[in-house]
Amino acid sequence: MDDPEAYGDVDVRFLQPYQATKTYLCPNCNRDIPPGTGHYAVVPVEAPDLRRHWHRGCWDGRKTRGAAGGGTGTKKRKKSRKRR
Ligand SMILES: [Zn+2]
Repeated sequence: MDDPEAYGDVDVRFLQPYQATKTYLCPNCNRDIPPGTGHYAVVPVEAPDLRRHWHRGCWDGRKTRGAAGGGTGTKKRKKSRKRR
């Protein structure tokens, strides 16, 4: 697993929705972070190249996993396949 804290100190910045202009892949859940989504950029101080973008819930929840058991809207919207 990709644990940024394995590299020592990390610099965690919150990116506002308007700052998120690209799609990122969250290393925690392996899902996309779509543009326009507020999320965290996690940058190891020693290895800035290894910057990762995390969902807010993923980063917040990685330590307290199982503690609160809080479900942050797990609404899934699937587009059904096209019919021709
Ligand atoms: Zn995630």
